[in-house]
Amino acid sequence: MSDGYVQNTQLRDAAFLERLREGGSPLGFELEVTARCNNDCRHCLINLPAGDAAARDAELTVGEIERIAGEAVELGAFWCLVTGGEPLLREDFAEIYTALRRLGLLTSVFTNACLISAEHVRLFREQPPRDVEVTVYGVTKETYERVTRRPGSWRAFRRGVDLLLDGGVKVRFKAVALQSNVDELPQIARFCRERTCDYFRFDAMLHLRYDGDEARNALIRAERLSPEKIASLDREDAERWAALEKSRERYVVPPSDDPARLFRCGVRRGNFAVSPTGVYRPCSSLWQPGFVSDLRRTSLKEARRRGVEAIDVARSGDPAFAAACGACQIGNLCLGCPAHFYLETSQLDGVVPYFCAVAHARAAMLGIKTSPPG
Ligand code: SF4
Ligand code: SF4
Repeated sequence: MSDGYVQNTQLRDAAFLERLREGGSPLGFELEVTARCNNDCRHCLINLPAGDAAARDAELTVGEIERIAGEAVELGAFWCLVTGGEPLLREDFAEIYTALRRLGLLTSVFTNACLISAEHVRLFREQPPRDVEVTVYGVTKETYERVTRRPGSWRAFRRGVDLLLDGGVKVRFKAVALQSNVDELPQIARFCRERTCDYFRFDAMLHLRYDGDEARNALIRAERLSPEKIASLDREDAERWAALEKSRERYVVPPSDDPARLFRCGVRRGNFAVSPTGVYRPCSSLWQPGFVSDLRRTSLKEARRRGVEAIDVARSGDPAFAAACGACQIGNLCLGCPAHFYLETSQLDGVVPYFCAVAHARAAMLGIKTSPPG
């Protein structure tokens, strides 16, 4: 429909939805501009010390980022999530951000907000991001710094959040629920909802390190909540529970007609991720070498072709996987997937009993009948 100036397209006919259905081109990508961070959160799956010179020297340059992002735009991407580590640790953050905007990309920025300055606020006002998403680890100094393990971080966080909100930047909040802050989760939710009208989410699934660091992985495991506790958090948060109940039917799916197929998610047509050193992954958690490519040596188009091809043919040779995940009807409630199984077990089909138990506890809370966890 057109009135001469404006062309109205039914959403179901929109070109980007067609591309999504075809799985031909990405709509967006996650760009990790650094793995370094000013905090040292107990549950963090990526962070390296802020002053790690080797990590800093290996990071993509602004020019390399521009080239990769340009290739992404050519493939059809229109959105970029700038993340880390803590992206604001990059001294050239403004240059990176401006380069992405110049390419026409809609941008989101993930930050802990501790390093936000008046200059960042000015940059975001001049070239507005879609949103700046801030993680809230606690709403008291004690809890916040128990998680971040950085004295002074609570004060810096409060200052950064106030600068963003007072400056009119669109902020979204999120939280992560772990042993060190779970008692404060209701207050965290209140803090966030009082400050943003449209958006707050929390996640209780902690994933293991990208670098496989065993000591850090032990720390992450120790912060995981029990399956029962995770399910009860769903129930205790009225807004979250209402949303879960509303889409209850979506969480029950028929068993796969190809039970050995590894990937049952939308990864082949989803957003891809780029590491601080330019490693392409079909999604941020998928580090298995068969799916990744070095974008310093390979074009994005070729990296993506290889990644999608590998996903399409990926099958498990383990009958236990086919019998468990292949036959599972609550996969949509489960954070278990080949990428996360690989981070836990070094096997794409190495089913993790903890993920399984969480999915079953959540299903039980929703009144969905299942057979016992595998
Ligand atoms: S603030 Fe974020 S990136 Fe930094 S250590 Fe914490 S979880 Fe990791
Ligand atoms: S890990 Fe368990 S709950 Fe998750 S998909 Fe596999 S069988 Fe289903």
